[in-house]
Amino acid sequence: GYNHPVLNQAASEQLAQMAHVMFGGLTHRTAAELAARLIDITPEGLDRVFLCDSGSVSVEVAIKMAVQYWHATGKSEKQKLVTIRRGYHGDTSGAMAVCDPETGMHHLFTSILPQHFFAEAPTCRDDTEWDDQDIASLERLLNQHHHQIAALILEPIVQGAGGMRVYAPLYLRRARELCDRYKVLMIADEIATGFGRTGTLFACEQAGISPDILCLGKALTGGYLTLAAVLTGSQISQVISGNPPGALMHGPTFMANPLACAIACASIDLLLTSPWQQRIEAMQQMFTDQLLPCRNWSGISDVRIKGGIAVLELDHPVNMQAITRRFVDKGVWVRPFGRLVYLMPPYVIEKADLEHLVCAMKETVAEEIGHS
Ligand SMILES: *Cc1c(COP(=O)(O)O)cnc(C)c1O
Repeated sequence: GYNHPVLNQAASEQLAQMAHVMFGGLTHRTAAELAARLIDITPEGLDRVFLCDSGSVSVEVAIKMAVQYWHATGKSEKQKLVTIRRGYHGDTSGAMAVCDPETGMHHLFTSILPQHFFAEAPTCRDDTEWDDQDIASLERLLNQHHHQIAALILEPIVQGAGGMRVYAPLYLRRARELCDRYKVLMIADEIATGFGRTGTLFACEQAGISPDILCLGKALTGGYLTLAAVLTGSQISQVISGNPPGALMHGPTFMANPLACAIACASIDLLLTSPWQQRIEAMQQMFTDQLLPCRNWSGISDVRIKGGIAVLELDHPVNMQAITRRFVDKGVWVRPFGRLVYLMPPYVIEKADLEHLVCAMKETVAEEIGHS
């Protein structure tokens, strides 16, 4: 996935024209082109785009958008967020405050963070039976506190760095219904799941829902430069812009950096013209054939597979240094955390390389847990 000639060319052509201009009061072609592409490919109803610096910042912007929207409609008391446990939304303060309080890596900072509402993490998956109890905790919180809650923020279908968990699309659909019923905006953080990773271009598609606000990042520039996007609908955007102070109160210096926008446009075009669906399907098939049987190993507590994501959960935390060494000795770079060893390979990985990677994962984990 590195050093792609098309992305290199997009960067150097843009560099020859203009590396950056402050986006305040001005616009530029690459930003407009990127916004048009994002509106085109994301779920229905999202037709306004805010470009910012990183995934964490996009989460800050999404939160500010939600709070400012309710403020503009005369509901200034809606300042809290509700989220689900085991989530990860980034490393800046506002984002840290909605990460899982235990697995979110931020317990050091608890006392400086705003306090929000945490619902139990979903447990139903698409390979298990749906149980209404799964969403009861979220419903209870919304029922009791909706007058103070601006938005629900969650990662659709796959929770990433907070635990690499997969949950049922029906949970997401029910959450959407609850947001509508209790007049709470839904923020979907697709920074990790966006651009095909779970098998659909966006994970929300698997539940057939549109969020009110969508955060994108990570794969947006094909790994070249830092850039993120927040999308919302024209109704929310008009309420924010049509009421004092008259604009969304966020304006980073490097907003909509033209180099990053040019690369993002080229990267999206490459993705859409590639057989990305077949590639993800092939990856999922290989994971299922090779890794799913590890479910029966003693020492493995769970195997989770979704699109281009494979997770082996061990029943004890791995020795990071030792396991990394073992991986490197087999010629692969895998970065486990806690009890989780996981893969999210580039879509362009060759079959032989993927086989090598998956075998290395199986062998290394077998050594780690003493499986023979
Ligand atoms: C990585 C990630 C973020 C933070 O993005 P950065 O670009 O690292 O700031 C937020 N949410 C999710 C779901 C992520 O995976």
